[in-house]
Amino acid sequence: MIIDLLELPARAEITADVVIIGGGMAGITLAREWAGQEKTVAILESGGRDADDASQRLYAGTGALGGEGGDVQNIDDYLVTSRARFYGGSGHWWGGKSVPLDPADFAARPWIKDSGWPMTRADLQPYYNRACDVLSIPHFDKDYAEPQHEGRPPLDINGSAHITSLPRDHSEVSGRIDKAQFDEFRYGFTDEPNISVYLHANVVGFTLADDGSGLRSVEVSTLDGKRGAARGAVYVLACGGIENARLLLAANARNGAQFGRRSDALGRYFQGHTVIYKETSANEAGTELCVTDPPESLDLYVNRRLGHPHAVLGTTLEGQAAYRCTAFTVTMGLLDEDPGGSDRLALRSTAARIDRADTEADGGTTCWCYFMTENLPNPESRVTLSDQVDALGMPRVHLDWQYGADDLDGFERSFDAFVRELGSAGRGRACSPIAREDLVATMQPSRHHMGTTRMHEDPTVGVVDANLKCHDADNLYVTGSSVFPTSGIANPTLTLLALTLRLSDHLKERLGA
Ligand SMILES: Cc1cc2nc3c(=O)[nH]c(=O)nc-3n(C[C@H](O)[C@H](O)[C@H](O)COP(=O)(O)OP(=O)(O)OC[C@H]3O[C@@H](n4cnc5c(N)ncnc54)[C@H](O)[C@@H]3O)c2cc1C
Repeated sequence: MIIDLLELPARAEITADVVIIGGGMAGITLAREWAGQEKTVAILESGGRDADDASQRLYAGTGALGGEGGDVQNIDDYLVTSRARFYGGSGHWWGGKSVPLDPADFAARPWIKDSGWPMTRADLQPYYNRACDVLSIPHFDKDYAEPQHEGRPPLDINGSAHITSLPRDHSEVSGRIDKAQFDEFRYGFTDEPNISVYLHANVVGFTLADDGSGLRSVEVSTLDGKRGAARGAVYVLACGGIENARLLLAANARNGAQFGRRSDALGRYFQGHTVIYKETSANEAGTELCVTDPPESLDLYVNRRLGHPHAVLGTTLEGQAAYRCTAFTVTMGLLDEDPGGSDRLALRSTAARIDRADTEADGGTTCWCYFMTENLPNPESRVTLSDQVDALGMPRVHLDWQYGADDLDGFERSFDAFVRELGSAGRGRACSPIAREDLVATMQPSRHHMGTTRMHEDPTVGVVDANLKCHDADNLYVTGSSVFPTSGIANPTLTLLALTLRLSDHLKERLGA
């Protein structure tokens, strides 16, 4: 059942066993797991079926992307353009690019402060498989040992010990790619009698239980001023990587809630992903890669079009340990038309000469490439509340997103590791003509928001535990990329769906469903 609160004459009093706050990819995936069962589920969604300006403006805030040396990019617009506030959430806009985190991302890496997840890649593997089913894509092999696509084995560099291929796949469960499939995802389960989706139901606060152990209810408000409340046995916050923190911070500020107080981690450790590249032009070196001995599988590495399965090269845990570097990837693309500029020919002929003792200028395949480097956990990279309020009276957010010296060191060491491995295998050469002082200004932010309600078993370190339960409330859970302790380089949605499916199993056990 779908109920639009704007069409109800009076205050809404909502009850359900599971109250899900936010109807994006995470909230919907959770609700779908319960469809047709005995326990009741309510999704409280801020927006309507379609995008509307008034709801979208609730996301407006201020932001800065800063780094070493004090350079700052103003990213105020990013708060509104990097997330969608209507039923289906950013799933309406996402590119569908899907990939699990690597085993290295889950490990506690002594050379990276605050690294380590309270679970391993192997622990999450069954849920990754289920998340792939939700997204209608093939399963990812646990350690990439098997070729993902027949006839196209992964590119092997030095036995893949330090640099390995990291396959990606594209889901079509996206409003941008296949609206019909996306509508089936968001509406296909809503006729089940135990499911209710409330539209234009903005959660604006939490009422705490008298003994302080958890929530008694959540407060709901519409943009035309109607108020209401929702009560459940458990509550799941699924409002996205920035908004999850905003709601909890606002509750702390308004009615003395204590979410994340023991760790002081709430809103901190914001991590995003940025793309680092310099456009390739005929007369100037861009970020480029020349593969001198391309295997037939190079096809796997070049995204000829969106939706084509493709892969990137990245550092393994062993590679990171050997070079003391971070998660790092290189994504390649074919040059549509190779203008054959002098620098490109220079890269190609140099690579050919070194790798193949061959002086021919066309001794390799040149690709444009871009790099992504892990944004390391940093408590000063954070979401805070500003003194401005939105149309519902909620404090707006300020995002202070940091790329510090450690991040840039990580990039430089990782790039160094990559070119050394590529060269020593005699497989190619890479070029990155971006000076360190220009790195932050060159970064293009992608729309991945992680870390602001980080997961850790210790309440003095994290905001939620390994079951995603808020350390400071017995009946409140948080799901989404805000719980990631570290961000790796993988696009986050597959992982946040895997965590959500794991949460669903946990809640079924808890509620005896
Ligand atoms: C242009 C674009 C391209 C992307 N491409 C990729 C990609 O290729 N691969 C990838 O992995 N990721 C990609 N992403 C990121 C991906 O979309 C997100 O990781 C994913 O959608 C997050 O899902 P979510 O449910 O956690 O959050 P959201 O999608 O943000 O959903 C949160 C929901 O909560 C609702 N909400 C917010 N506040 C409240 C409130 N107070 N009360 C009630 N409801 C509320 C919102 O309206 C929304 O529906 C992309 C994002 C964008 C914008």
